[in-house]
Order: sequence, then structure tokens, then C-alpha cells
Amino acid sequence: MSRKFHSAAERVSTYESDFNDVCAVLAGPSPWSEYLRDNIPIALKAAPSHQFQFVDAKQFERVAHKDTLGITDKLTGQITLLDISSDKSSFAAMGAALHEMVHLVSDPAKQGRPITIAYVLGEGLLEGLTHVITEDILYAQGIAPWSDHKYGERVKIVRKLMQVLQPDGYRRFGKALFLGHPAELSLLPQILGSRGFDDIKTLATMHNSAQAIRSIDSLWSAYRSRKPGAAAGRP
Ligand SMILES: [Zn+2]
Repeated sequence: MSRKFHSAAERVSTYESDFNDVCAVLAGPSPWSEYLRDNIPIALKAAPSHQFQFVDAKQFERVAHKDTLGITDKLTGQITLLDISSDKSSFAAMGAALHEMVHLVSDPAKQGRPITIAYVLGEGLLEGLTHVITEDILYAQGIAPWSDHKYGERVKIVRKLMQVLQPDGYRRFGKALFLGHPAELSLLPQILGSRGFDDIKTLATMHNSAQAIRSIDSLWSAYRSRKPGAAAGRP
């Protein structure tokens, strides 16, 4: 029986059972499960260990961006989390571990190279998308979100882009991230313009949702007035 989590702030540590319990949540019901579930056994087979590794804040600073709580090495499949204990007892929030597991099962699930669509989305949108998926999994399973993460601005931007792609937002982002099909997202530069989309990527990396959403709204409405009958991007 896996552990039943009630809050994403619950602690996980170095035990293999913690890794497996978070993995069970990843594999559970969510609007993304049909796109990610086949990647889980592939990622587990390729992972060097079924345990989270921990480093303290000092070490973490040396290896990771300041706005993350973990690192998934897509070359090896090792997940390293920031130890948030004050006495080196190695623990992290379950939600932070789940976010890293979404990276682990992103294409290529067998690891060996960076995430396939990283270059299409840029760092900000890729992290935002990963966290949208994390939030949706938590919500679908009745696990309360936790506030101590740093992706809120990026999440808002990705949710706005999903609205632009509706009713296909889940399918397009799901296939792009988990199956490695960048063409699923080619509508975004079509609707927003290549330069417009590049600007959104930069604003996402800068955690600036207010400006990004204003810009998406104005580019999207210009597109709709040019193509009133367009199937995608209809409000
Ligand atoms: Zn991340």
C-alpha cells in the first residue's frame, strides 16, 4: 500500500519507499496521466537509484539555479533535492519531489540527453509547464498544494497559453513534453508570432506573468481579428 499524502508540504526523505510513494502519485489520476504513464516504467528502469539524493543549501547553490528546489539530471536520471531541514536530516516537500519526477518522465524517459522540448519552451515555460502538471496531479488526488515553491508566475503564463490552445491545451502540451513532439506547439508562434512567442519565453524566465499575460492577450486578440474563423485559439 502506498502512503496517502494529504499535503504537498509533507516530507519525503532518502527512503526507497518515499521515492515509490511519490511515483505512485505521479502514476495516479490526473489530466496528464494518459500522456505520461507509459514513460514511467522506462524512466524507472533507466534511473540509477530509486531514492532521492539530498544536498544542503550551500552545495545546492553551486549546482542549481536559485529558483529551483531540486535537480533532475536528464543525462543520468538522478533526482537531487534541496535539504530543507535545519540539521542535515535530508528532507524535502513531497510536492518538490513530484515536480522533479515530472522532469524524470519527460521525454526522453530513458534519459541520456536534455528534455526534448527544452529548446522550444526555454527555461521559464518548461519549468512553468512542469509545475502546472505537478499542481494538476496534486489537485486531482485531493492533495493540498504547498506555497513554498517558486514557480507561481511561470505557472500563470503556461495556464494562459493552455487557454490560447484550448480545447487542445492538455493534449498539445502533453504530447510535446512526454512524447517529445515539438510540432504540437507550433501553433503558439503561429498565433503569437515568432518574436511575440520569444518575448513570452523571456518573460517566463524572468518570472514576469503580468507583462506576459498582457502581451499574450493583445497578440491573441490581433490574431483572432485577422482570422475570425480560426479553429484554434477561439476564446
Ligand atoms: Zn523543475
